[in-house]
Amino acid sequence: MTGRGGGRPLTELSGLGPRMAERLERLGVTTQEALLFHLPYRYQDRTRVIAIGALAPDQEAGCQGVVRAAEVVGRRRPMFVARIEDGTGFLTLRFFQVREYLKRSLRPGRGVWAFGTVRAGQTGLEMVHPELETDAEEPPEAPAHLTPVYAATEGLTQGRLRAWIGQALSRAGARLPEHLPEEVRREHGWPALAEALETVHRPPADADVEALTAFRTPAQQRLAFEELLAHHLALRKVGQERRSARAPVLEGTGELTNALLASLPFALTGAQERAWAEVRGDLRGHHPMQRLIQGDVGSGKTVVAALALLQAVEAGHQAALMAPTEILAEQHAATLAEWLRPLGLEVHWLAGSLPERERRAQAEAIANGAARVVVGTHALFQKEVRFAELGLVVIDEQHRFGVHQRMALKEKGPDPHLLIMTATPIPRTLAMTAFADLEGTVIDELPPGRQPVDTVGISDARREEVEARIRDAVAGGQQAYWVCPLVDESEMLQLEAATATHERLQAAFPELSVGLVHGRMTPEEKEAAMGAFKEGTTHLLVATPVIEVGVDVPNATLMVIEHAERMGLAQLHQLRGRVGRGSRKSACVLLYHPPLGEKAKRRIAAMRETNDGFRIAQVDLELRGPGEVLGTRQTGLEQMRIADLGRDRDLIAALPGAADALLRTDPEAANALIRRWVGDRAVYGEVG
Ligand code: ADP
Ligand code: MG
Repeated sequence: MTGRGGGRPLTELSGLGPRMAERLERLGVTTQEALLFHLPYRYQDRTRVIAIGALAPDQEAGCQGVVRAAEVVGRRRPMFVARIEDGTGFLTLRFFQVREYLKRSLRPGRGVWAFGTVRAGQTGLEMVHPELETDAEEPPEAPAHLTPVYAATEGLTQGRLRAWIGQALSRAGARLPEHLPEEVRREHGWPALAEALETVHRPPADADVEALTAFRTPAQQRLAFEELLAHHLALRKVGQERRSARAPVLEGTGELTNALLASLPFALTGAQERAWAEVRGDLRGHHPMQRLIQGDVGSGKTVVAALALLQAVEAGHQAALMAPTEILAEQHAATLAEWLRPLGLEVHWLAGSLPERERRAQAEAIANGAARVVVGTHALFQKEVRFAELGLVVIDEQHRFGVHQRMALKEKGPDPHLLIMTATPIPRTLAMTAFADLEGTVIDELPPGRQPVDTVGISDARREEVEARIRDAVAGGQQAYWVCPLVDESEMLQLEAATATHERLQAAFPELSVGLVHGRMTPEEKEAAMGAFKEGTTHLLVATPVIEVGVDVPNATLMVIEHAERMGLAQLHQLRGRVGRGSRKSACVLLYHPPLGEKAKRRIAAMRETNDGFRIAQVDLELRGPGEVLGTRQTGLEQMRIADLGRDRDLIAALPGAADALLRTDPEAANALIRRWVGDRAVYGEVG
C-alpha cells in the first residue's frame, strides 16, 4: 500500500521513525494525510476530576491527589506501587514495571493527576498503569478538553498517536483538498474539512461534551457523511462497471416457463407477476442483471427463481441456484426437481458433502455443459468449478453475499446475470450503502389464504400448558413442530440436544408418533423424516433450528420454539414462517427460560405484536445495529472509520442526491473521495 497521489511521508513528523511508520502501516496509515483520517472512535472525559472517596470499581475516571507512599513490592515479579490521597480517600497506582522515571515523578509529596479504570484491589481501590501528570507543588490540572481515543496496535500508544496527529494537523491539515460541495455543507451547517478534523482530533475546551461523545457534532456528522458518500460512490461505480459489462442475452422462447406456469397448482400473485416481469426483462438485456428480490418468508420467491432459471435454459445457457446451507439447497433441489422433471430437465446437485468422486463427476458435467440447471451451496463458487456457458446465478437467502463476492462471479466466465433473494428486508439505509450496486424488487404480497400466526411467550415453568396444546392440535388432526434450543458450541452438542429433546418428548407423548430431523442426517434420512411428517405419519416433529428454511407442511399449525430467548428475531420469524401455511389458524409458542433480558423481552414482544417481516426487521435493526443484522464482514462496511449506519441513518437519505451532484460537477472529486475513504482496499474490487 502506498499513499496514492503522493502525500507527505510520516517520518517527517518528529518522534516518528521507520519502526513506528511500519506499525502505522499496519493500521493502513502510510502518509500524514492518511494519519489525519485515522479518526478517534471514542472520547474520554478527562476534564472531570472525581473525589477518590467517590470512585467505584469499573469506572473510567480522573482524580487528583498527593503521593503519600511509594515502594517496590514483590520479589519474583517486582512492581511499583504509589498511594495517593486527596482528603476523601486513598488510591493505589500500580505499575507492573519498575521504571526510574516513575520513581522520580511519584516521590512522596508530589502532586498527581491520574486517569484510568478503577478496580478493586487487595488493599482497596486501585488503577493499573494509569495515565499520569505529576507536579512538584500542586496536583496538576485535568485537561480542559475531551481526549480522543484511537484504534492502535502493539507498540503504538495513545499519547504518541495524539502527538503525531497534532503535528500532522499543523503541517498538512489546512492543505487537504475539500471535496464536499459547498451547497451540501451550507445546507447542513457543516464546517470545512480542516476545521472538522481539528475538532475531532483536538476538541476545543468549549466543545459540547455530550454531542461529541455521541458523535453528533457538525464536525463529526460532516466526516461521517463524507465517508458514507465515498462508500456509496464506490458501490455505484462497481454497479456501473457491471452494468456496462456484456452479458449473454437470454431472450428465451417461453416454452419452458409457460409449461411451468401451466403445471403449477396456483396462479402467481400480483407481486410475483411484477417481480417475474422485471426479471424477465433484465435477462433479455445486454448487460448483467443485478437484482435483489426482497420478499417475506412464504411470499413465493422460489417460483420466480425457477422461472428465471428456465428462461436461461431456454436461451441455451446454464443456470445455477445457490443457497447458504445444505438443508436449504436440498429443499430447493427437491422442489425444482419436482417442477422441472416433467419438463424433461434434470436438476444437478453440488455441495461440499458429496463424495469426492461424485463431486468430480458433477464438476465435469458442469464444465462440459451437460448440466443445465445446478443447485448447490458455496461449493458452486469454488475455483475448480468452471461452467461451460453460465448465463444466470440465483442466490437465495444470502443478502450477506458481499460486494467482493459479487465481483468474484466474474471469474465464473463472462458476466452472468445475478439475482439475489432475501427474506430479510434490507433497510433503506443499507440499500443505499452496502447494496447501492443492486436494483431492488419487493414482493409485498403473500399467496392468498395465509393467516397471521398467533404468537405467545410462555415461561418454561409452564411447560405443561404447552404440552396440552400439542395434544389438542393432534387431537384435531393437525401437526406440530418442536424446535430445540440453539446450542452455539458445536454441531455435536446441537445434535445431542436434539436427540435428548426427541427422547423426552416421545416419553411425554407415548400416544403420539414423534419424529426427528437434524443437520447431521444423510439426505435420505432427512427425506424420510420429512416425508413421514408431510404424510402425517408423525404428529410432532422435533427439529434443530436449521429447519428455519424451506420446509412446507400446511397441516402443521403449531410451532413451539424452546429457549426462544437465545434466538435472534430474524431466525424466530423464519421459524414461525413454517406454520400458517394452511387454511386453519396457526399458533407459535415462544418458550423461554426466565428471567428475560431487556433485548430478549423486546424480541418476544415484537414477535407477539406483528407477523410483518419488514416491521420485525426494523426492530431487529434497532436492537442489533445494521452491522450485526447483515454480517458486517461480508458487507465490506466494517472498516468504516467514523460513520455508523445505525447512528447516522438520518444522513443516508441525502447520499444519492449529493452523489449525483458530485458526479455531474466534479467527477474527479468523487474519485478522490473514494480513494480517501475506501482506498485501494480490495473490498470493492477495482475502484478508482
Ligand atoms: P419464500 O419466499 O419464503 O421462499 P416459497 O417460495 O418457499 O416462499 O413459497 C412458500 C409456499 O407458497 C410454497 O409452498 C409455494 O409453493 C407456495 N406458493 C408460492 N407462490 C404461491 C401462489 N402464488 N399461490 C399459492 N401458493 C404459492
Ligand atoms: Mg425461500
